[in-house]
Amino acid sequence: MIEDRLTTELADIAAAGLTRRRRVLASPCGRLAAVDGREMLNFASNDYLGLAGNRDIAQAVADGALAWGAGSGASHLVSGHLAPHEAIEAELAAFTGFERTLTFSTGYLANLAVTPTFAGRGDAVFADKLNHASLIDAMQLAKANGADVQRYPHGDVAALERLLAASTAKTKLIVTDSVFSMDGDLAPLPLLLDLAERYDAWLVIDDAHGFGVLGPHGEGALAHFNLPAAKRILLMGTLGKAAGVGGAFVAGSALAIEYLLQKGRSYIFTTATPPAIACGLSRSLELIRGGDALRANLFARIGQLRDGLAGLRWPLLPSATAIQPLIVGDNEAAVALAKVLWERGLWVPAIRPPTVPKGTARLRISVSAAHTADDIERLITTLKELA
Ligand SMILES: *Cc1c(COP(=O)(O)O)cnc(C)c1O
Repeated sequence: MIEDRLTTELADIAAAGLTRRRRVLASPCGRLAAVDGREMLNFASNDYLGLAGNRDIAQAVADGALAWGAGSGASHLVSGHLAPHEAIEAELAAFTGFERTLTFSTGYLANLAVTPTFAGRGDAVFADKLNHASLIDAMQLAKANGADVQRYPHGDVAALERLLAASTAKTKLIVTDSVFSMDGDLAPLPLLLDLAERYDAWLVIDDAHGFGVLGPHGEGALAHFNLPAAKRILLMGTLGKAAGVGGAFVAGSALAIEYLLQKGRSYIFTTATPPAIACGLSRSLELIRGGDALRANLFARIGQLRDGLAGLRWPLLPSATAIQPLIVGDNEAAVALAKVLWERGLWVPAIRPPTVPKGTARLRISVSAAHTADDIERLITTLKELA
């Protein structure tokens, strides 16, 4: 039977306790989630500014759909590039300080476009060990195109420098997350940019968890470090996390973006997102730009959580971002803890190997500007009680 192999593999996954199930939400994304007739306090989304359920943005999407229709009808290079798409590209360029941007349907597709487009035969890719799965897949595509790919130990600038110094590649790409998605820590971007300059490499930065959150007005990780929009930087930002809508962009010099537009396969061979999404994103960008109060609340809640959980038997990783991983260690213990929290109305996902290294199973607490001080207090009190 053609399906036998699938049955066996699914049984193996189940036997290892790794079967994944989707929870169906009966409410919009927000601080509360209606699931199975219960109201859960949500620490499981990437909606860092609480914009996913924002009424103004939803209204802009609705108005955009009435003005521009439901679909774009084609890929950007054929006939699917509508005025709202063009507008959001310019707005994102102005906001991030880069000369030009290109929007994508998802961050996954944006990452798949960049690395293999800029690195092929005779070139080399240097990637942080803890990069997001989409960057790893992009690296594999570059490898299939003939690029040499190397992974350096997480955040290890000295190891990266040794690899760069030994490389004879024509074009070099350093590829990193800005905020690492399972640890919440920041890449040493100033040191990485310095290395990129000294070894004449491109620096590809995935700012999925920095855009909207970090920097004086949410411009992202570069602004956080006071770094310029250098021509050798290719910045990817996602628009379905803090921005609360969906899609992604790549920002860079006018020339680099033109090159990506001409050659990025996951840009070229896919239908442009519905123009209404771009309309919603324009509104979201205004709210991000004017969102200092949201960010102030987010960072106050992060500080409250860290203070409240200090000294608990499960340590928090040293993260200054909205991703706050509580290290439990043992896989079953992490899952059991998440289950008890769930029973008490707190939704905090457990993350296990192979997503994270062995022995570091954790609760991945996502803090949002939508959370109140009482929400955070409730999580702290419950965790203390369970410890
Ligand atoms: C979520 C995420 C992506 C993918 O973005 P999508 O828009 O969800 O496809 C890429 N990189 C990182 C680090 C992410 O966390």
